[in-house]
Amino acid sequence: MKENVFFIHIVDGEADELICQKLERAIKANDWLAFVKNQDLVAFKTHFGEENTQGYVRPLNFFMLGRLVKEKNARPFLTDTATLYSGLRANAVGHIELAQRHGFSYESTQIPLIMADGLTGDEEIDVNIPGRLYQKVKIASLIVKAQSLVLVSHFTGHMVSGFGGALKNMGMGCSSRRGKLAQHSTATPSVKKKKCTGCGACITWCPAQAITLKEEIAQIDKKKCIGCAECLTVCRFDAVGYNWSETYEQLQRKIVEHAWGVALAKPGKALYINFLNRISKDCDCMGGYKKISPDIGVLIAFDPVALDAASLDLVERKTGKLLSQLSYDIPYRVQIDYAREIGFGNPDYRLVEI
Ligand code: SF4
Ligand code: SF4
Repeated sequence: MKENVFFIHIVDGEADELICQKLERAIKANDWLAFVKNQDLVAFKTHFGEENTQGYVRPLNFFMLGRLVKEKNARPFLTDTATLYSGLRANAVGHIELAQRHGFSYESTQIPLIMADGLTGDEEIDVNIPGRLYQKVKIASLIVKAQSLVLVSHFTGHMVSGFGGALKNMGMGCSSRRGKLAQHSTATPSVKKKKCTGCGACITWCPAQAITLKEEIAQIDKKKCIGCAECLTVCRFDAVGYNWSETYEQLQRKIVEHAWGVALAKPGKALYINFLNRISKDCDCMGGYKKISPDIGVLIAFDPVALDAASLDLVERKTGKLLSQLSYDIPYRVQIDYAREIGFGNPDYRLVEI
């Protein structure tokens, strides 16, 4: 059976206000938010954009979604999670500052912004999944605790996962830092001697007593280390490094299994929306911006796998090129194929034009 993916056309360069109005009309006409119930806490998970990028989904859409959710007497909040790498979005303080600079203030959206994984990205809940790689995945607490989820993604190319859509926004974007680390890393951490100040915070937090100070520099005993990433989380000086050498295919499989954890935590209580405008070569975590396709539209579905499959096909149809020609020359359909293989979602879709 095919999964419905709803498609709102837009023309290249269409104004954000018009796109938002079309989306609002479609949501109301089809009652796609019917799963939101009285007093539900509703997480709007999106990506607020790295500095100097332009591609993120604009705040006015969340003002509109918030209004629709409040009409149901439910309580929406905007949310995202900390990045693994250092930078403004590595903790809640910098992340919220940057989001506000990109227009995600209470004044513009009329909804509060709460980081789903806490101050430093370590507030998480284990979600059991019947995966091949994992039996449980570490998902940001508030994603699990919220009663409903509206996952709003900006579709882009991506240098390691091939493309970034709903699955990436769920798998990587809804995981705690430890969950992200489990996807990215194959090794135990090491200390960057030049950056270590010898503050000792990592020693206090290391659950395996694997860290000691030698001449005021932290040292990790790899035999004792259990790879929990606590040291990465607590080090404020970017002094803990990891080997990020995961293969493209394996990384995509891990993303899909984490995304499955998010979907399993929200059975019948999630809506997935992909924006296919300002489609860029790189994801919104990258500072630069290079448009690779004319604007296409907004896609809506209850199955994130069908949604991403349709998004990918539409970009390739619109440009007449493979995504690997538009973005990076790496295997990029692994996310879709693997999701089908493990029984998470259905990539066979029926495009329903609105
Ligand atoms: S927390 Fe960071 S800076 Fe402090 S001792 Fe550990 S590695 Fe060094
Ligand atoms: S990864 Fe965990 S166990 Fe290993 S050194 Fe860091 S805090 Fe300790």
